[in-house]
Amino acid sequence: MRRKLVAGNWKMNGGLAFNAALLAEIKAGLKQVDCDVALCAPAPYLAQCQSELAGTPIGWGGQDLSAHAAGAYTGEVAASMLQDFSCQYVIVGHSERRAYHAESNELVAQKALRALQTGLTPIVCVGETLAEREAGRTDEVVGQQLDAVLQLLDGAELAKIVVAYEPVWAIGTGKTATPQMAQDVHAALRAKLSAKNAGAANVVKILYGGSMKPDNAGELLAMPDIDGGLIGGAALKAADFLAIIAAA
Ligand code: PGA
Repeated sequence: MRRKLVAGNWKMNGGLAFNAALLAEIKAGLKQVDCDVALCAPAPYLAQCQSELAGTPIGWGGQDLSAHAAGAYTGEVAASMLQDFSCQYVIVGHSERRAYHAESNELVAQKALRALQTGLTPIVCVGETLAEREAGRTDEVVGQQLDAVLQLLDGAELAKIVVAYEPVWAIGTGKTATPQMAQDVHAALRAKLSAKNAGAANVVKILYGGSMKPDNAGELLAMPDIDGGLIGGAALKAADFLAIIAAA
């Protein structure tokens, strides 16, 4: 049995006072936790996450990292810097990074490798656009996104990643993939992982992301290959985030 993971993605939201209130409410409302929980915050707030969340069941992480170790890369954040703030996770290849920062499948794979080499768990995002889904290309697109990662990682490394399937048309739109639509893609992704390394495929968590909310989390998380959620909008509301954790 894979333990579920509920990971919040704050994106470019928050501020010191907002975060303090949100984190206090989440900590106060967290009852028994039967899943892994994490928050991926903007880099400037990782110190705040560290001081507020150390010693709680909630982990934290970044939303991106550089594929390079260090050097003349203005504006970038190195894996070692995330590690300095005790991050356990880092999102790589979010569709917003792919779309607005032209991140290729190969670059995303290099970032995943860099994260692993530094002891971080990469949450590797894949997902198709609406046009790609309507053209019947979903499996092909997410397959290529995952293939780039499979080419770079060996079986032991592969077992340490988290995959997040996030259909681009469902992100922040209020449109959610039906549980069966998501399950079908998750199963295809797991089959692809399994073709490379069956042992790794059994342990890799595949999260669903894209308008996961308290009212749809339960049925999504009940699907056999959906091992948790990557939560955007609902992670900014303590009550919603707590409800999704409870559903997991
Ligand atoms: P959403 O975002 O839950 O607001 O749709 C999910 C994500 O982009 O990770």
